[in-house]
Amino acid sequence: MKKLGFGLMRLPVHFKLPTLISLGMVKKMTDYFIDNGFVYFDTAYMYHLSKSESTVRTALVDRYKREDFILADKLPVMAPFIRNKEQQETIFNKQLAKCGVEYFDYYLIHSLTAKSHKLAKELDSFSFVQQKKAEGKIKHVGFSFHDNAEVLDTILSEHPEVEFVQLQINYLDWDSPRVQSRRCYEVAVKHGKPVIVMEPVKGGTLANLPAEAEKLLKDYNPNASIASWAIRFAASLDNVMVVLSGMSNFEQIQDNISFMRNFEPLNEKERAIIEKVVSIINGAITVPCTTCGYCIEGCPKKIPIPQFFTIYNKAMQTPNKQTTYRASYKKLAKKYCSATECIECGKCESSCPQHITIIKYLKDVSKHFE
Ligand code: SF4
Ligand code: SF4
Repeated sequence: MKKLGFGLMRLPVHFKLPTLISLGMVKKMTDYFIDNGFVYFDTAYMYHLSKSESTVRTALVDRYKREDFILADKLPVMAPFIRNKEQQETIFNKQLAKCGVEYFDYYLIHSLTAKSHKLAKELDSFSFVQQKKAEGKIKHVGFSFHDNAEVLDTILSEHPEVEFVQLQINYLDWDSPRVQSRRCYEVAVKHGKPVIVMEPVKGGTLANLPAEAEKLLKDYNPNASIASWAIRFAASLDNVMVVLSGMSNFEQIQDNISFMRNFEPLNEKERAIIEKVVSIINGAITVPCTTCGYCIEGCPKKIPIPQFFTIYNKAMQTPNKQTTYRASYKKLAKKYCSATECIECGKCESSCPQHITIIKYLKDVSKHFE
């Protein structure tokens, strides 16, 4: 299998209506992906406000033979989706129906952390997925993971039956003490589990670098896109089976395929350049948000947290454009809710896979823009 997977969390959307997926474009991207010999598609129950799975059906499942693609889906072991054991069966059957398939090639318990692992134990989720595998409705069982290496080691020790893990790996988080990409990868290797990589471009962060870092990459290879360095970094790891890229437009899929069709791992010189890039970025990013949107679901005030952090990061990087970013902030605050209106309930922080201190940063956002 080629090492690039189509992540279906950031699909193309209508430019005026961000909740409306551009189905025609998804079909076009799907065709291009498959025509170039790529087969791995990754969806989840809550992606795109629960519309990703039905989009997969229309764009992929209804138009291709089942053996022509590999489909991965995930069990949302988290509130508000699953609160008791029985709901797992209901959701799983709903997922099969929404995707229009009789089995999933890869099925993951979604976003395990120390906390959600506790819930997965209470719900007996690991037995549930094994039972579905025995019924022939899942081919391979794994989990996606968002905690530290120690927790990963504990889970893999308790569940040797798991066949693979999905980890957040990118060059910025590789040695980060918070995400611990390197250490988690090493734990997976120790347990003999192949790795699927998520967030190789860190939610787009590694496609839009500070000018100084971009210059380093362009000086070395003017033809390579900035994002290509990030995807190739993750794909260069021996134990990585596939790297998921959340492609949002046709240009991105064309670019990704151009260097993943005949993939070449990073050489020593390229690795050294990336190390320099990491130091530059670390000095420039204020909030390490990947814009995954997991925090929005449970927020009682519906604060547009990732959008606020994106604007705030940009404002911190370009001091001469404060009027533009303040206007963007005000527009969003008017449409949804301002950062000041946060009631500090903490629901967002418990669902953030990046463990960001959201409440504190919202105060900074509010102070800066208001
Ligand atoms: S702490 Fe603030 S931002 Fe987070 S969920 Fe509660 S109200 Fe929303
Ligand atoms: S704050 Fe956390 S949960 Fe929310 S979008 Fe950013 S990374 Fe995702």
